[in-house]
Amino acid sequence: MTGSAGEVLIVGGGIGGLAAALALAQGGVASRVLEQASRFGEIGAGIQLGPNVFRMFDRLGLRDRVAEKAVFVDSLVMMDSLSGEEVTRVPLRGAYRERFGNPYAVTHRADMHGAMLDACRQSPLVALEHSRRVAAIEDRGDRVQVTVEDGAPLEGAALIGADGLWSRTRAYLFGDEQPRVSGHVAYRAVLPADAFPEDLRWNSATLWAGPRNHLVHYPLRNAELFNIVSVFHSDTYVEGWNEPGDRDLLMRRFEAVGARPTGILERVSDWRMWVLCDREPTAVWSKGRVTLLGDAAHPMLQYFAQGACMAVEDAVCLADKVAAGGGDFQAAFKAYERQRYLRTGRVQLMARFLGDVYHAEGVARELRNQMLGRRTPRQANDGLGWLYGGP
Ligand SMILES: Cc1cc2nc3c(=O)[nH]c(=O)nc-3n(C[C@H](O)[C@H](O)[C@H](O)COP(=O)(O)OP(=O)(O)OC[C@H]3O[C@@H](n4cnc5c(N)ncnc54)[C@H](O)[C@@H]3O)c2cc1C
Repeated sequence: MTGSAGEVLIVGGGIGGLAAALALAQGGVASRVLEQASRFGEIGAGIQLGPNVFRMFDRLGLRDRVAEKAVFVDSLVMMDSLSGEEVTRVPLRGAYRERFGNPYAVTHRADMHGAMLDACRQSPLVALEHSRRVAAIEDRGDRVQVTVEDGAPLEGAALIGADGLWSRTRAYLFGDEQPRVSGHVAYRAVLPADAFPEDLRWNSATLWAGPRNHLVHYPLRNAELFNIVSVFHSDTYVEGWNEPGDRDLLMRRFEAVGARPTGILERVSDWRMWVLCDREPTAVWSKGRVTLLGDAAHPMLQYFAQGACMAVEDAVCLADKVAAGGGDFQAAFKAYERQRYLRTGRVQLMARFLGDVYHAEGVARELRNQMLGRRTPRQANDGLGWLYGGP
């Protein structure tokens, strides 16, 4: 048996797991992060960061490290893929920053995860172990024991399952069904700036809304790269995560849209595919000394671009409750889930609705364009105050 009885075990070294380790360390709590992959890392794609997560970066001492490589976009833009016209634009400087006290940014996932990893490596309270696939968990009342494939069992004072959409920890706690397959798939790619259409190299996060599809692009790394995510309705129901994408299928699903968005898609030869899934929101994430965090607790469609932001918020809240709990993990985990589930549930449900808005056809499309087109920046900010002004 290895591990220390006072240590918290964290299953998963993604953004949520590393954020949890850092947040616990700030409260003086030691943790051991068990990651199944042969190295700690993130996929080669971009991520959007709302103002709410910058508040968390301040708490974790990460703001400067993340900001160093992030791009601070000027606006969020929605274009209509059929007409090629702008539907709405939310400026992200001036009144937006004043209102939310923080910027909106986009960055490369590897840069953000790398910043967290560096901070974890510098902390004497965080132990990082890769090639550690957790196979079984047992809550023994006064401690938690885990079985790791190809390794000695480990024990700790408590366990946080930050093991993502297909969480082993969640299955142990609740014996849950598989995630809900949404019927939408995402194809991702990153292009060098000179391969991206020159007239669209905007300093904005841009979304082209089309019938049963949409396309997002934004700059990365000082605008040397452009991140592209295209989403369409599909009957691909197999579990697919970072699989090769079918370019011909993608082009067929976008054939009704205008030349500018398809002009972007045509430039990509290698797509990676994600079958998009979520779960119904739940209020209970913990039992005894074991709890869930991030996608393991509340997987959501990415239409709010908030899954990772929510995982980081979870981490800070969880660490605060542990610090206040004086060693009573069960009470701390209950207090944590009580504080978090309505906010994360709202993002889960609203994200589904946003998918309908982005993919609208016919009258729904006209209404979307009319309603969003008439919205002032102030109204847009008011509508998102609950999200960006929180937690
Ligand atoms: C197309 C797309 C775009 C997105 N865009 C955004 C965005 O712009 N902004 C945003 O905030 N969010 C975005 N998200 C959501 C975001 O990626 C996720 O919510 C976030 O990565 C979840 O982090 P996590 O740490 O909870 O889980 P994960 O990132 O899934 O990490 C889980 C980790 O656990 C490990 N693991 C799993 N099982 C085990 C086991 N048994 N033992 C040990 N280790 C294990 C995995 O290897 C992995 O490293 C997007 C998602 C998609 C699909």
